[in-house]
Parts: sequence; C-alpha cells; structure tokens
Amino acid sequence: MLSDAHCHLDGSAELAALQRDEHILAIINCQSPAEWATNLALVGDQQPLSFGIHPWQATTLRWAEVTPYLADAKIIGEIGMDSVWTDVNLLEQARLFEAQLRYAHDHRKPVILHTKGCERAVLTKIQKYPNRYLVHWYASPEYQLDYIRLDCYFTIGPDVLTDPAVTQLAKTVPLNRLLIETDGLEAVTWAQHRPVQVADYPSILKQSLRVVANLRGMAPVDLEAVVYENLTRFLS
Ligand SMILES: [Zn+2]
Repeated sequence: MLSDAHCHLDGSAELAALQRDEHILAIINCQSPAEWATNLALVGDQQPLSFGIHPWQATTLRWAEVTPYLADAKIIGEIGMDSVWTDVNLLEQARLFEAQLRYAHDHRKPVILHTKGCERAVLTKIQKYPNRYLVHWYASPEYQLDYIRLDCYFTIGPDVLTDPAVTQLAKTVPLNRLLIETDGLEAVTWAQHRPVQVADYPSILKQSLRVVANLRGMAPVDLEAVVYENLTRFLS
C-alpha cells in the first residue's frame, strides 16, 4: 500500500478523497489553527495530522494560541529552522523551535523536522531532546551520517532523481528508517518543474518508489511495503 509521510493538502478535498479511496496512508501537516480545522473536516480520523509552528510563521503565531492544537496532534511538526527560504529572524525561529521540541519531548510525541540551511543548528538542538524524529526532505550533503547516527527517520522527496544530496541520502538511510513523501502537490510542481494534478498523486509516489528501489537494488513492490511499515512504526 502507498504511503506519504509528509503532505500538505492545501485545502484540497479532492486530494483527501483520493487518499481515502486509494487507502494511501499520509501524515497531513497543519501549520495554523485554521488549517487544523480545515484538515480535520477533510480527513476526520482517517489520517494522522501533524501540527506545529513552521519556521516561516515563527513571528506570526503565539505559543498560547497553538498549545491546544499541539495537545490534540499525534505528531508535532513540521517544526525547525530555515535560513534559505525565509527572512524570519533566526533567533525567534530558534526560540520557538526549542519550545516545541521541549513540548514534544515532555509529551512523548514524535516530531517532523524542517532543516533548510540550518542543518547543523537543528542537529545540535534535537540532541538535547531525545525523541522519535522524522527529518523531512533532507537535501543537504552535510551531516547526513550525524542524523543517521541519531536513529532518525528520513523522507525522500520527489526530486530524488535530480538533487544529488537527496539521491545520496536515499542510498544511505538504513532501510528501516526510510520513508517517501510528496510534501503536497505544490512542492511536487516546484521540484519537478511541471504542473501536477490531483489525479497524478499516486503515480508521483510510485515514481519515487521506483527510483529509490532502483538505487537500493530492490523491487519497488518490496520497498512500498517496507516504507509503509516504517511509517506505521513511526506513528505507533
Ligand atoms: Zn512541508
């Protein structure tokens, strides 16, 4: 069965319905109270929801207004730091990231990490809060082994054929820590430089499975089963 370890629905009822009809297990990300309400209405208890203050919103959402959602979510994320795709103050990002790491640690909830450009800082911070971590779409050639040593899970993104760092990671992650993600259809459009439709979603996941299976000398059907089992274990 197909799985998507990190997905943004962007309000698409069509995508939520397709995931349900095709029995695709997907962690649906929510990065605001409004998005939580929208996604809850779209998927109910059919899919696990993650909630966290994204680094891009580190100065627009207040801790007090998000704690009820952190309490309701099974998974905390995506949270982290980003020095590439946002101008949000890095000290503010670090402060909020650490508050969420501490919350997740204290409440024993697994975490999805965003690390763009801040791979070293994120690595340092998570070592203070031992937990089950999923490193989302890691695309740096640096520190890959350091994260692997911390026993993190890793999602491979839809640019696995074109980004050498992602290709390298797809080859090295221990098989029981390997996951596939789309990051939502907007991210696939960005990564593959082509417009994608909701109907393309299963084939996007299958394409990533084929590429990663080929890199690892496995049959795609076997890898599909392994990553599904890995995601189930991450959620347990
Ligand atoms: Zn994302």
